[in-house]
Amino acid sequence: MKTVCIGAGPAGLYTAICLKLAEPDHDITVLDGDPRGATYGWGVCFSDDVFDLLYANDRVSARTVRRASVRWQGQETHLDGGVSRMGGYGYAVLRASLLEALERRAIQLGVRVEHDHPVEDPTELADADLVVVADGAGSRVRQLYADAFGTRVETGHNPYIWLGTDTVFHGMVFAAEPTPTGWIWLHGYPSSRHVSTCVVECTEETWRWLGLDERDEEDGLHLLENLFRQVLEGRSLISQSRGEPARWLRFRDVTNDRWTHGNVVLIGDAAHTTHFTVGWGTKLALIDAVELVRSIRDYPHDLPAALRDFDERSRPFMRRVQSAARGSMAWYEHADDYLAGRTAVEAAYAMATRDSERPRRNVEHFQRKQRPPARWMRDARQTAERIRRAAQRGEYTLVPAWQRGPAPVTRPSPLREASQPAARQRPAGVGGGSSPRAS
Ligand SMILES: Cc1cc2nc3c(=O)[nH]c(=O)nc-3n(C[C@H](O)[C@H](O)[C@H](O)COP(=O)(O)OP(=O)(O)OC[C@H]3O[C@@H](n4cnc5c(N)ncnc54)[C@H](O)[C@@H]3O)c2cc1C
Repeated sequence: MKTVCIGAGPAGLYTAICLKLAEPDHDITVLDGDPRGATYGWGVCFSDDVFDLLYANDRVSARTVRRASVRWQGQETHLDGGVSRMGGYGYAVLRASLLEALERRAIQLGVRVEHDHPVEDPTELADADLVVVADGAGSRVRQLYADAFGTRVETGHNPYIWLGTDTVFHGMVFAAEPTPTGWIWLHGYPSSRHVSTCVVECTEETWRWLGLDERDEEDGLHLLENLFRQVLEGRSLISQSRGEPARWLRFRDVTNDRWTHGNVVLIGDAAHTTHFTVGWGTKLALIDAVELVRSIRDYPHDLPAALRDFDERSRPFMRRVQSAARGSMAWYEHADDYLAGRTAVEAAYAMATRDSERPRRNVEHFQRKQRPPARWMRDARQTAERIRRAAQRGEYTLVPAWQRGPAPVTRPSPLREASQPAARQRPAGVGGGSSPRAS
């Protein structure tokens, strides 16, 4: 069987890895429009769930990704001179390091990965039995077959920009600064030993009032550095990522009524997007890859049935996840109302309970839980939990990887594992990590 994956992001590369592990004779090519090593964005956050999934499916790439990642611990909310400190932990990795690790592993397994090879129309891949469309939120192929997939794309209201900084954060940081038209805020988290990621967001009105629609790259960065100088500790923001300056964007909410059309299947952001404030997009791209390969294994001689199975199992799950993520996006689009007149602790509480499914306990209770002794105890509990999870998935095992052989490719199902109400797993700010409970 011959498969072509369009896009060397997490979805395309991980599909190639899992498929090659499941069927070593499978002929797999990954085509990407960008040059090797060029990618957009900075760090992405992961929870323990992501490493559980990576270790269960391919220990070799899991170990490389784990080595490239950093751990974050605790969350700070800075508002109007006040700071709230909460517990919580997770991991983060530079997108570039993640993709390098996955690409290296795919090549090692015998996958062909070709860069500078944009695919404009899948009919040019007529000799492929299966075309996996993993070319991201702006998918060219999805647009070509928009009617067949039943595609809807809605654009979020808030402009945001994905930046780096040489400030080394240790945990999640949320900092909001007032302007005459509303707030502008920064979500920050560590991403390697030397750099952190900052996503800056505000309403359109504030963006224009600050002149961010007209300022050039340097001027715009300078303004943001000044606004957030306290939390950045006077250090710099970095716009350029692998040669490209970051641009202000608006989130694209992508949904599709079907993910398959003939032998073409959509996965990852091409199929569904989730707002960056939940930090799930990469995890969901990896889950899609694992689930698609599971379906192919379950229907080894019937590709249409395999694609139908993948579509029927995964899409309803993703609808619920997307709906929870939309709630988070809406919260930040109305953040001016939620932040106005609040202390840092009240703002942190409002963010942590922005999921309406959560019981709204009182803010005093929340505040008590943030006092140092309670926080230290929670941190200790979470550290123990983190070590237990890492040991359970085999991160600390003394047996060398080559003696263990490959782990089962797709068991247990990440869809089943992730099927609790997704919003409950959400941390307060951007990024996947353990959820600091508001209780
Ligand atoms: C600001 C921000 C913060 C985020 N933070 C997190 C986070 O903390 N945690 C998390 O899990 N997720 C996060 N995400 C989401 C995450 O980045 C995406 O969900 C994830 O990258 C989707 O993976 P993908 O493989 O589907 O698509 P992509 O990663 O977008 O990869 C698509 C690939 O396709 C290639 N391509 C595009 N067009 C073509 C073409 N015509 N032909 C060939 N190749 C093509 C591109 O070059 C690219 O390499 C964040 C996103 C944003 C915007």
